[in-house]
Amino acid sequence: MTTHDLRLRGGRVFQHGAGLQDLDILITDGVISGLVAPGTTVAAREEADLGGHVVLPGGIDPHVHLGKDIRVPREADDASLETASAAAGGITSMLVYLMSADPYEQVFPGSAAAMAGNSHTDYGFHFVLGTDEQVAAIPDYVRELGVASFKFFMNFRGDEGKYLGLPGNDDAYMYDLLGRAADAGAMVNPHPENIELVWKLRGQPKDESVSPLEAWYRSRPPVVEAEAVQRVAYFASVTGASVYAVHTSSRAALNAMTLQRSAYENLFTETCTQYLTLTTDSDCGTYGKVNPPLRHTEDVEALWEGLRTGAVDTVGSDHNARHRTAKEKDIWSASAGFPGTGLVLPTVVGEGLRRGIDLERLVDATSTRAARLFGLFPRKGTIRVGSDADLAVVDPNRGTTVRAEQQHSAAEYSPWEGTEIPLRVVHTIVRGHFAVRDGVLSSTPAGTYLSRSRGGAAALAHADTLKEDA
Ligand SMILES: [Zn+2]
Repeated sequence: MTTHDLRLRGGRVFQHGAGLQDLDILITDGVISGLVAPGTTVAAREEADLGGHVVLPGGIDPHVHLGKDIRVPREADDASLETASAAAGGITSMLVYLMSADPYEQVFPGSAAAMAGNSHTDYGFHFVLGTDEQVAAIPDYVRELGVASFKFFMNFRGDEGKYLGLPGNDDAYMYDLLGRAADAGAMVNPHPENIELVWKLRGQPKDESVSPLEAWYRSRPPVVEAEAVQRVAYFASVTGASVYAVHTSSRAALNAMTLQRSAYENLFTETCTQYLTLTTDSDCGTYGKVNPPLRHTEDVEALWEGLRTGAVDTVGSDHNARHRTAKEKDIWSASAGFPGTGLVLPTVVGEGLRRGIDLERLVDATSTRAARLFGLFPRKGTIRVGSDADLAVVDPNRGTTVRAEQQHSAAEYSPWEGTEIPLRVVHTIVRGHFAVRDGVLSSTPAGTYLSRSRGGAAALAHADTLKEDA
């Protein structure tokens, strides 16, 4: 008889198309080596009881920034603290944006070294592109570095990207980038904002009677985002590119994407936890400054409806560990962005179930869809024999109160401080290793690099062929 490394008993295990099933999970070398009915006789070196908790595919956070300047991870704690934050919230894999104007064959080794041995989750990279040299190197980045998704800041015109060391670009640059990425079977993840509109709005007199977050919203209203989504989606249809709109914040932007999607299918939508939970009325003050800005209740409701229907593909965090001191300023001079990777899965699954959304859709949005879109499926994103044993063991009958000091992040605050989330993460298992056990973080970070060779339509087509073989 085969002897398995580990048997996880007593879980209610999520299975696509079949909901929660009473199954024991067998794991060998970090991979699921069996799914058996409780009571089945099998040999396992070790056993753990999951106590009737719900077992979901480990969360995949498709949108994370690491490093003190949010460009690249450089030091051990850039990786260890923020991936701990993720693991505490049931995330088992994250995709990290590297931002540089240098060729990525020069940037990659340092970032990989900062992550290796320090990451509690598995991790892959997206590259932010800004130079012609980088665009020309897309096929090499896919083939040699295992990166198949590329971000472009549509709002970085003139000196707008200078604070991140990125040059200004225009629509012609984007058009070229989209075509090159399509040819390489990769995906483009645009940051969609029309900065020319922002420039005009910024110059107008400020209404001192509104809250700081509302003032920030008015400087970058939904039309800024929706127009850019519309433009990049149309360019995608012309170039054959796969486009994944990151951090969709507004009903207008979601509608713009839905309209374009009716004519061209390789368009995908990410939102973030903050746009599903916070508004300009939230009491988080300048901690809640982010681009795009927090919106209004009608936008929050439209995004939840998009999650229900599948118009929203994925939920990420746009996590970055901007320190408290960079946020405790007036709204115009505070830094944008905040930590939140640990809240994606508990919020989407906990709040989503409370709203009556199918668990299948919620698992899709927190794990499976990202795995499929970013070339990780079926290794990630599903609980089946042959997949990595990446599991989020959760209790939907207990809640969690958000406390910054329990989030591990170097940021030292949370815009959700004191918020009740209707779900608790009990264990997080990364390739069979308990990254978090009974809420306690492992002292051994076991995450490894995820090399990916396809993104977008090419990745989906590939995942479908594998499905037919299975
Ligand atoms: Zn981001």
